[in-house]
Amino acid sequence: MKFFFPDSHDLIDPGFDFDTETRADFRIRQRDDLYAHEVHDAPPYDGMLISKAMVDGIGGGQMRYSLAQRHRLLRVGARDFFRLEKVDPEKKLRTLGDCGAFSYAKEDVPPYTVDEVIDFHVECGFDIGVSIDHVIFAYDPSMDDLLEGLDHPLLEECRRRQEITLTLAADFIQRHRDRRCHFEPMGAAQGWSPRSYADSVAQMQRMGYEYIGLGGMVPLKTPEILACLRAIDEVRNPSTRLHLFGITRCAHIEEFAKYGVASFDSTSPLRQAFKDEKDNYHTLGAAYTAVRIPQVEGNVQLRKRIVAGRVDQQEALRQEQKCLRLVKAYDRDEVALPEALDALRAYEMLCDGGKDRTEQYRRTLEARPWKDCPCAICRDLGVHVVLFRGAERNRRRGFHNVYVLYDRLNRLRAGRASGTPSLAAAGAAGTEG
Ligand SMILES: [Zn+2]
Repeated sequence: MKFFFPDSHDLIDPGFDFDTETRADFRIRQRDDLYAHEVHDAPPYDGMLISKAMVDGIGGGQMRYSLAQRHRLLRVGARDFFRLEKVDPEKKLRTLGDCGAFSYAKEDVPPYTVDEVIDFHVECGFDIGVSIDHVIFAYDPSMDDLLEGLDHPLLEECRRRQEITLTLAADFIQRHRDRRCHFEPMGAAQGWSPRSYADSVAQMQRMGYEYIGLGGMVPLKTPEILACLRAIDEVRNPSTRLHLFGITRCAHIEEFAKYGVASFDSTSPLRQAFKDEKDNYHTLGAAYTAVRIPQVEGNVQLRKRIVAGRVDQQEALRQEQKCLRLVKAYDRDEVALPEALDALRAYEMLCDGGKDRTEQYRRTLEARPWKDCPCAICRDLGVHVVLFRGAERNRRRGFHNVYVLYDRLNRLRAGRASGTPSLAAAGAAGTEG
């Protein structure tokens, strides 16, 4: 089972000073900032997933690639652009290119031609290139029981999108042969039920695909994903490998492996570090809530309260600094936990008006999980890694979570290789989306 990390141009500034919260002079982002695979002792994934939509900046999301960066990626290729050579001279890391179908899911038809996408895969020098798909939003197995010929607009739309996806997949593999491309083609399958996913996989196998990615599964719950995998298993050739696109439930990867899932990608470990309400810092067996000490200057909600005259700016600044000072002192065993927790609660009341996370913070700070983590981030950052504050800390905590997921995966593989029962307990880690 291989883990691909989806690139969304997330880098950290290695020169950032956490005590003064300032950056080094003359920093040039693209040159000096680091990817997760450059921060950790070894890359915390088996490969990277790069989406055309992300690189092109379509789909309403923020523009992550500048025009110059986009041109450079296409000119020098992904391996060079992401500086993989330095951390992976043996060329074990795989690069996987896809279209990023979620970003154009609202369109009537995908905005790319087959040749445009193949050009993208070739110019980036990917090891694996995915066909064009069109996301099917509905997941409803009961639609398969509807009477034939019955007018059902939702099912019609599902079928239309599946048809588009299959037609483009057939063109894609044909053009891949015509153009004698070197990358391995991966078919992207879409469906709305176990049976329809299985139909897609069966058709793609007939087209010649041996590596098939299952798209549109992001919103699915684990039992639904398993139901699809079971149905696919009945039509799957023994040589067909499956990829799960964008899964959020990494706790069950072990079960997925039984059904021919050879790889998956997930942004969950990174995103949960700063998007999740409570599971922000992962360990092999647990998940902890990060301690929120928002910046008075950077916190939109707090700024509003200050402007409205409900919070005194000087008081907010004073409390913010007090929290930082006490949490760092607690880490050095210079103050007792209750003192730090009192300061945090007072500041949280000021910022968030009413939300009290004291018990969650007590659990995090008492356990001091950063002291036990061997990853480069925690070694370097100490207690700062559990502070929910600013992109430099939050993103580093995400990189730590990525490391933990990969560590779990490696233990799983090692357990499997040696025949010992694998770590069911570790499956409890807070990677549940
Ligand atoms: Zn760590």
